[in-house]
Amino acid sequence: MSFKKSQKLYKKGLKNLVGAVNSPVRAFSSVGGNPLFIKKAKGTRITDVDGNEYVDLVLSYGPMILGHRHKKVQKGVDKALKNGYSFGASTEAEIKLAKIVCDAFPEMDKVRFVNSGTEAVLSGIRLARAFTGKDKIIKFSGCYHGHQDALLVAAGSGLATLSLPGSKGVPEGAVKNTLIAEYNNLESVKKHFEEHDDIAGVIIEPIGGNMGVVIPQNNFLKELKEFLETKGALLIADEVMTGFRSKFGGAQELLGVTADITCLGKVIGGGFPVGAYGARNEIMENVAPLGGMYQAGTLSGNPIAMAGGIATLTELKKQNPYEKFEEVGAIIEVILLETAKKYNVDLTVNRFGSMLNPFFTKTKVTNFEEAQTSDTEKFGVFFWEMIKNGVFLPPSQFEAWFLSSALKDKDIKIIANATDKAMKKVA
Ligand code: PLP
Repeated sequence: MSFKKSQKLYKKGLKNLVGAVNSPVRAFSSVGGNPLFIKKAKGTRITDVDGNEYVDLVLSYGPMILGHRHKKVQKGVDKALKNGYSFGASTEAEIKLAKIVCDAFPEMDKVRFVNSGTEAVLSGIRLARAFTGKDKIIKFSGCYHGHQDALLVAAGSGLATLSLPGSKGVPEGAVKNTLIAEYNNLESVKKHFEEHDDIAGVIIEPIGGNMGVVIPQNNFLKELKEFLETKGALLIADEVMTGFRSKFGGAQELLGVTADITCLGKVIGGGFPVGAYGARNEIMENVAPLGGMYQAGTLSGNPIAMAGGIATLTELKKQNPYEKFEEVGAIIEVILLETAKKYNVDLTVNRFGSMLNPFFTKTKVTNFEEAQTSDTEKFGVFFWEMIKNGVFLPPSQFEAWFLSSALKDKDIKIIANATDKAMKKVA
């Protein structure tokens, strides 16, 4: 397998792009290599500029839940393109997508579209503060909520990959209202409430996906919500990753917990830049032009992005692939565990439906500290052998793998074969 053209583009890209990438998670530095450059993708497969084809388990970090270039999405977007790309005025498509989203989340009367998950969360946090009149926000270590200043502490995703505790350039004042708790540990949340009386809310990935996959244990989310209600603080669900992925109504539907504010992204744009935040009327009425919380966007609700979102969610609802995700996800989980056993490799696999990933550790992984016990060097070896055998994975121990509804038996065979080769190499 040759990566010659990717290498050439990498060198060329270094001149005008930082690290030749536009998001650090696309650099392959933590797995000891240089980024691959992609030419095209279709269905379950992605092809790099050297013509190497892979079963894609990155799926653009989640959005491509139907696989690449699903014909209904392509058709919807092609149709929208013919009418123009951006108007700076409202379109019917925004109303249509808003209805699909609000219908999926029972506690969401209104939604506001933005352009990314980062924007969704920073607006959701601002809204929580506007509604409660309080400033402090609790976040969990290992959770990633986009690159806004206030939440770039103890964050997962690229920061975990690069072993950064936070980001340079974030002033102390920007994080002075951020409190850190431990995932799956309600006591660590309660402790903050004992010490502070100005906590607006708690933001959480209801299923952790940015420290690798970490699943809420027992009744953690339910108990968290019940506790917050006693304190008059809000539960802010960052469902940027899990929204429409774990279930049509997100992790909240699956886990039976309703958040006060929900932040969305990824799948709701089907590969186009869309984020959203929503809540019940009494909360959303604080947002301008109804209320005094200001938030705006030149390209927010962009008609092409809305068309991508409408087509994706309409098709997703029709397919209802969540049972299939569970079945296929379980098969891949077993492949990983059995192969690890065959080659005597210590492995923990965390999976929730169509999100999963292996940790090279004996330890059960229920929080960020435990995730960090994974042997990342072993992951690097595993990663490259998977690539060489036709499976495209996120180049980081701390990112989730995603499955699409397009996945077929022949893709699973490729995954099984690559896993065997990769685990043998790790052993
Ligand atoms: N929140 C979560 C849970 C995410 O996983 C991400 C991105 O991976 C974000 C927020 C930020 O979204 P975006 O990269 O679209 O800004």
